[in-house]
Amino acid sequence: MSTVSLKNVKKVYPNGFEAVKGFDLEIEDKEFIVLVGPSGCGKTTTLRMIAGLESISSGDLHIDKELMNDVAPKDRNIAMVFQNYALYPHMTVYDNMAFGLKLRKTPKAEIDKKVQEAAKILGIESLLSRKPKMLSGGQRQRVALGRAIVRSPKIFLMDEPLSNLDAKLRVQMRTEISKLHMELDATFIYVPHDQTEAMTMGTRIVVMKDGVVQQIDSPENMYKHPANEFVASFIGSPEINLFKGLVGEQDGKVGVTILDGNKELFFALTKERAENLKSRNYLGKEVSVGIRPEDIKEYDDHDLTDDMTKFDVKVEVKEMMGAEIYVYFTLSGRQVISRVKGSSTLKVGDVANLRVKGRRLHLFDIETGVTLF
Ligand code: ATP
Repeated sequence: MSTVSLKNVKKVYPNGFEAVKGFDLEIEDKEFIVLVGPSGCGKTTTLRMIAGLESISSGDLHIDKELMNDVAPKDRNIAMVFQNYALYPHMTVYDNMAFGLKLRKTPKAEIDKKVQEAAKILGIESLLSRKPKMLSGGQRQRVALGRAIVRSPKIFLMDEPLSNLDAKLRVQMRTEISKLHMELDATFIYVPHDQTEAMTMGTRIVVMKDGVVQQIDSPENMYKHPANEFVASFIGSPEINLFKGLVGEQDGKVGVTILDGNKELFFALTKERAENLKSRNYLGKEVSVGIRPEDIKEYDDHDLTDDMTKFDVKVEVKEMMGAEIYVYFTLSGRQVISRVKGSSTLKVGDVANLRVKGRRLHLFDIETGVTLF
């Protein structure tokens, strides 16, 4: 068992700065929790409080139902893996992995068994006698993981462990860490290097901003149903396109109007959404409108629906990604990106005939940023 419970956990640094403002999270046994948010939002501080490397200013931290606030880091049964692997350069891989256990006066035979087991899991058996400088970045990162694994911790805390690796290796290690999580009987709390790591690795994602948790959800829900405009723009790559719109009626349909220069673009909404907005008194009000790049498609007359809006734009940039193409254009004074099929023949300078369905729009309250739908 390795559950972690944070109740109203706060961190105020000695200079008075409040880095984490009331963090609540119940982590289940063997979960893979991913913490994300802009630089300085409090991810590392949160990890360090869980590890015991930073004191908790107020609130309660329980591990396996036991209050941990004042328990020393070494007695928390937690291992931390950082971005800089901090291996001892003069020691072999074997000794690097064995070091922590030696300090704890673990019997030699047991150390050997644990190091061999961890090396096998990580596929570094043949590297045990090498020194760190004779290893590639990925191999070093594996040794750093090995050093954590030999201690059989109940909880792994990882702070951007893949940041120093090149893109290809990062992808490889990403799947290896996911596999490791399945193999080991442990709970993972992970701060990723980028979006993709967050979306692909976590069972649940926690999005933070300015020390405040914005949403805790599965990657899928976080993407489809962001709690607010901040989460919508933080989760998703390329980013969601955001506009200001006015809720109103045209030809008996309720929708949102976006101004493009002196042209009006009216996005009709489904009846259900129209009723919803009316009942919440949003008719005549300004809202924030989000459109994911994949929801702006090239128009073809097969998919006519009541809530579809067509518009023409001039293609400014085209990025061929293989299976799809990113097309950039200007709408309502902003650069907008759409993801169209890889088979599209659009070229820079072409007029693209695009369409969006009202059911795909994300709407947010203009003042609070809270999601309307
Ligand atoms: P990054 O993604 O850049 O690593 P982060 O989300 O991990 O950022 P933290 O390192 O947790 O952010 O820092 C949160 C906030 O607390 C930041 O504004 C930082 O400047 C501040 N902070 C961190 N350590 C201290 C300290 N010892 N004293 C005062 N403020 C601090």
